[in-house]
Amino acid sequence: MEDDEKYDYNAIKEVGRASYEALMYGKGLVKPGARLLDIAEGVESYIASKGFKMAFPVNVSVNENAAHYTSPLGDESVLAADAVVKLDVGARKEEYLGDCAVTVDLSGRHEKMIKACEEALAGAISMVRAGRKVCEIGREIESIATKHGFRPIKNLGGHGVERHDLHAGVFIPNFDNGDDTELEEGQIVAVEPFMTDGIGLVADGETVEIFQKRGFPQVRSGEAREIGMFIDKHYLTFPFAARWIQKELGHGDDFRVRRAIAELSYAGAIESFPVLVERSKGIVAQAEKEMIVEKDSCIVVTE
Ligand code: MN
Ligand code: MN
Repeated sequence: MEDDEKYDYNAIKEVGRASYEALMYGKGLVKPGARLLDIAEGVESYIASKGFKMAFPVNVSVNENAAHYTSPLGDESVLAADAVVKLDVGARKEEYLGDCAVTVDLSGRHEKMIKACEEALAGAISMVRAGRKVCEIGREIESIATKHGFRPIKNLGGHGVERHDLHAGVFIPNFDNGDDTELEEGQIVAVEPFMTDGIGLVADGETVEIFQKRGFPQVRSGEAREIGMFIDKHYLTFPFAARWIQKELGHGDDFRVRRAIAELSYAGAIESFPVLVERSKGIVAQAEKEMIVEKDSCIVVTE
């Protein structure tokens, strides 16, 4: 593996460890009454203080929100005493990306689901090796979910992690979808079982706070051009939060930034990642780790 030119595995381990440490730091911030904005910014500052950039904005997704919530600037929302919080964190160094997540149950009523999710992640990780079919991993996750009385979320799953691209190549389902694609030695993957007491599907919600640059089309207004260039320069092709632009451009003018983002989206310059909401409003748990696929096993990097 050392002479593989494709990846710098030491760099992957380094971002993995930094991501995990930031995740654990963030976990300590998840308390009743905590502001979601403070959690996201706290973890992002922690990552910056360790000399890393962000692989994506910190996701703080509560209850039926499965993923992709990050606070807008001025977000006053706080964690309720019974919140079930998915914290999803990734550090970046150059083009190497970390990705890991944990669920915190403040209610004490959903521990069983969180345990099931962690058990499914451990079970899946024990199966990861070169030649393993992705549907076999999905089958394992689903069987553990079902055994504990929950449903896996079928339209979310794990993924390959390429340089520059957090979701690339292989898709690792959370159920047996019949895909017999095999994992390959040296591949970087993230496994992420999601479970719910709902129907097991997510749909796009109303809230959109996370975006990613996709192209270089022409836009009409000077403001959209200016913000497009800012995105290009600061976030490259990595996901970013609307909040980051508002903060870094200094004017904090939500309307101007939103209007520019809307224009850039319409022109196809940026892609939107709406909050993913469980369709029947079921409570959602998630567990995620990133690993290097080896011949007979794998090396987890986010720990
Ligand atoms: Mn993640
Ligand atoms: Mn992921």
